[in-house]
Amino acid sequence: MDNRFKGIQLTRDENKVMSVNVAELGLDDLMEGDVVVEVEWTTVNYKDGLAITGKGPVVRRWPMVPGIDCAGTVVSSENARFSPGDKVILNGFGVGETHTGAFAAYARLNGDWLIPMPNGMDGRSSMAIGTAGYTAMLSVMALERHGITPERGPVVVTGANGGVGTVAIAVLGKLGYEVIASTGRTEEADFLKELGASDVIHRDELSGPAKPLNKERWAGGIDAVGSHTLANVLSMTSYGGAVAACGLAQGMDLPSSVAPFILRGVSLLGIDSVMAPLALRQEAWARLVTDLDMAKLEALSTEIGFDGIIDAAHSIVDGKIRGRVVVDMK
Ligand code: NDP
Repeated sequence: MDNRFKGIQLTRDENKVMSVNVAELGLDDLMEGDVVVEVEWTTVNYKDGLAITGKGPVVRRWPMVPGIDCAGTVVSSENARFSPGDKVILNGFGVGETHTGAFAAYARLNGDWLIPMPNGMDGRSSMAIGTAGYTAMLSVMALERHGITPERGPVVVTGANGGVGTVAIAVLGKLGYEVIASTGRTEEADFLKELGASDVIHRDELSGPAKPLNKERWAGGIDAVGSHTLANVLSMTSYGGAVAACGLAQGMDLPSSVAPFILRGVSLLGIDSVMAPLALRQEAWARLVTDLDMAKLEALSTEIGFDGIIDAAHSIVDGKIRGRVVVDMK
């Protein structure tokens, strides 16, 4: 491996003003870990956008190499599970937040955080999916566990043009669900229908203050938006339905009431990708191999190089990225 290599580094001065730099790094700049991975593919998630723009309190250790997920090859390992040459995926566990992350040629990581590249997937496709797509899969699995089958009725997906939303639509569509896509970009309706949506609604229908209960419109939901949007989704969920809450693009608040829960038996399912147990992760990645159409993944992905990461980070927090951004680090 190269002794010096390129990476993005976030630093903070004594007044807590953050700088974003492309720096020459060495292994000493990376935090402790028992496996060194050559990063071949990574991706820009919403959380990476918050970290690089400083718009959200994502980074909790300075200096930090951001980047919450990557795919690559093990170059050295003191962990019994991995040997040099193994292809692996990393996502979550505070990487890019409290542990130096993926936006560098190498990442030094705890081997217990890594999963072997699933059969049927490669580095590029795994990072086109990335944390956002894997969170979409966790959300679908949560609805399934709650008995929300396609026969129960439609499923609404909010933040439909985003990373979570596009992958959720593609997976739900392939599984036979009727999908209602909620978006601020209705000009992308044809794209969303090609991915698997049956119907597209404007997000303004869901973004204002919610009534405690409203007309029943769907059996389930995958919500990447939070705030009033999640409150409206809950108020329009039919009797016994469920909503998987995974995001906060509109806000972290939830101005709702208990009415959907106690009068319609609706369930709110919390989705966390960061600390999800290994078995659940492996199940989600395996399900993505079978239940996500790779042609649709290609259609919703844009490829950039290392030099495009910082611009993409700004675009994603401005809501300007359609689908997923995959980064070729080679
Ligand atoms: P993206 O930025 O790709 O997508 C978010 C989408 O939300 C946008 O494309 C837009 O969709 C919509 N949106 C943005 N701003 C607003 C707003 N003010 N009001 C209503 N809708 C809005 O992000 P991701 O899909 O990658 O992530 C979505 C959310 O999920 C983020 O909050 C992220 O932090 C969270 N997340 C959580 C995880 C977990 O472990 N729970 C893991 C991964 C992500 P459109 O243009 O279609 O309206």
